[in-house]
Amino acid sequence: MEAIEVRDLTRAYGPVRAVDGISFTVGDGEIFALLGPNGAGKTTTVEILEGYRTRDAGTVRVLGFDPATGGMAYRSRIGVVLQSAGFEEEFTVRELVRLQTGLYPRAHDPDELIDLVGLADKRTTRVKGLSGGQRRRLDLALGLAGAPDLLFLDEPTTGFDPAARHHAWDLIANLRELGTTILLTTHYLDEAQRLADRVAVMLAGRLIGVNTPERLRDESHLSTEIRFGLPPNVSVSELPALSAPPSVTAGQVRMATHVPVADAGRLTGWATDRGLDLPDFAVVPPTLEDVYLALTEENPR
Ligand code: ATP
Repeated sequence: MEAIEVRDLTRAYGPVRAVDGISFTVGDGEIFALLGPNGAGKTTTVEILEGYRTRDAGTVRVLGFDPATGGMAYRSRIGVVLQSAGFEEEFTVRELVRLQTGLYPRAHDPDELIDLVGLADKRTTRVKGLSGGQRRRLDLALGLAGAPDLLFLDEPTTGFDPAARHHAWDLIANLRELGTTILLTTHYLDEAQRLADRVAVMLAGRLIGVNTPERLRDESHLSTEIRFGLPPNVSVSELPALSAPPSVTAGQVRMATHVPVADAGRLTGWATDRGLDLPDFAVVPPTLEDVYLALTEENPR
């Protein structure tokens, strides 16, 4: 079953076609990342799905509801983690989480939720005493309060330190194991690559790519980079014939290839035959960030 079905969705603000006829589906239990530059129309799309913004045209079904008319029955099934929720600063973490869980018919246990987001040692700390990253964790706990079937996560790790980001990624991956469908918006492409089953790239109100990160990469036809340090006393002209000429800067050899296995095989075979090491030899496929940049640059507004 599809958790989200969107067909021909449009929304304009005066002359600005913020969402310009998009269609996509998100499967039950899927983590789906909506990517795109500032102003692409992501927030407008997500807020229509949440039921907080009206649409001009198109059909939208989320968990079987039309968000525009689903009311409380719909809202109680979704969780929303916004970029900057305003908190009551004098409440403690536990008080806020208890208040939030009290709003839902079927809610998580407040203390388990606090543990889940890694705020166990901040249970009795007032909100005003939390760091930025800890506030984001509290955001996440509040979004999960009603044990939602579908979670909207808006830039969940902005401002997190590296360890906290990894913790949040583990947490989000655990939610997937529990069967929670997640619609994620993020500007961190490594986050999308790590978490998302499928990504959608939005630009100027349209979707210009929807697929798994791997298929988007294959469709992009971007090259893989092979790089290594040139061994001492070896000149670049001695390297074996490759599918494309390498470039050398400060002793570092780089080449872009569409046949990485063949070129890597030639290079390693050549080096092994001569008893040479290729320092820091690496075969680096394009990242989701490379694919995203190529897609958005190829499709000017
Ligand atoms: P960001 O990554 O910066 O959050 P976004 O992809 O979420 O951007 P939206 O906030 O959906 O983009 O905005 C899409 C377009 O609609 C932009 O051109 C924006 O200026 C315009 N827009 C958004 N909200 C309104 C509004 N309430 N009134 C008028 N124009 C708006």
